[in-house]
Amino acid sequence: MTELTHRTNTRAVKVGNLTIGGNNEVVVQSMTTTKTHDVEATVEEILRLEEAGCQIVRVACPEMKDAEAIPEIKKRISIPLVVDIHFDYKMALKAIEGGADKIRINPGNIGKRWKVEAVVEAAKANSVPIRIGVNAGSLEKHILEKYGYPTADGMVESALHHIQILEELDFHDIIVSLKASDVDLAVEAYEKGAQAINYPLHLGITESGTQFAGTVKSSAGLGTILHKGIGSTLRVSLSTDPVEEVKVGRELLKTFGLASNAATLIACPTCGRIEIDLISIANDVEEYISSIRAPIKVAVLGCAVNGPGEAREADIGIAGARGEGLLFRHGEIIRKVPEETMVDELKKEVDKLAEEYAAQ
Ligand code: SF4
Repeated sequence: MTELTHRTNTRAVKVGNLTIGGNNEVVVQSMTTTKTHDVEATVEEILRLEEAGCQIVRVACPEMKDAEAIPEIKKRISIPLVVDIHFDYKMALKAIEGGADKIRINPGNIGKRWKVEAVVEAAKANSVPIRIGVNAGSLEKHILEKYGYPTADGMVESALHHIQILEELDFHDIIVSLKASDVDLAVEAYEKGAQAINYPLHLGITESGTQFAGTVKSSAGLGTILHKGIGSTLRVSLSTDPVEEVKVGRELLKTFGLASNAATLIACPTCGRIEIDLISIANDVEEYISSIRAPIKVAVLGCAVNGPGEAREADIGIAGARGEGLLFRHGEIIRKVPEETMVDELKKEVDKLAEEYAAQ
């Protein structure tokens, strides 16, 4: 049976100034590609991610000098910072001390009990949540021996094992991911995880590939999971500039009506009835609305034959007519504008709507 309301029922976990889970909006994350100790490059990339709409950013921490760079990075960015640590409890302590808003570490992999306790105590004292990151490609030996190969049950069992370690230490600010590169496996793992775990789930399809293939694969996988009401936060993993990950993540949330802070473009595919240079106009308008932080629907249509009526759900739109554009709102034409200025007119109307929304 599919749990349809997991997202609305999880524990709420604070990550910096955001709350994940507990019926809060799904949050888009990304991860930097720079060497974390290269503070200039890392901050530059994080600021670009912030501008694209990234709400939480994760940095890798393979060396102590990366953990030592956290305070300086924190000073120069606005969104919560997650530090990704494998095994080394000293780096986890350094990252927490340096102001990390969350750490990603699997407690079962830290080693001796006193090391786990030291990390958990520091996380508690600083209100830093821990993400348990289960990955089908790196399941523990005892799980692989039991199941033979990575399975959804094995992934959930691994997550529960790490959760139990934290709960035994009375630690509950937990977020869990169950990532796999195989879409079917990831979907099954998140479905099973949603039934067994009441902490917020962070979604991801790992190693999904290049910008084109990875976007399709991530959208198929994450879309299926989101549609089931599962997932409080997500990262799209692409082998490209991480800004693209944020764009895809935001678009995905808009597709499911899960982003109240983003505008959506409706554009016709064009056909022989086209009256304007729709493709370049659609790209121009898409770029323009990417910085609008209001749930406005904007339509761009090639002609007026079926146009405005078909895009009735649009808050504002233009349809091409011979030598001019028809500006319409909710399917009703409001005025004619010359072709040369119609895109500017549309942008002005979008700005007006965004201001109205902000004033509400
Ligand atoms: Fe063709 Fe007009 Fe429909 Fe665009 S809106 S696909 S140009 S009929």
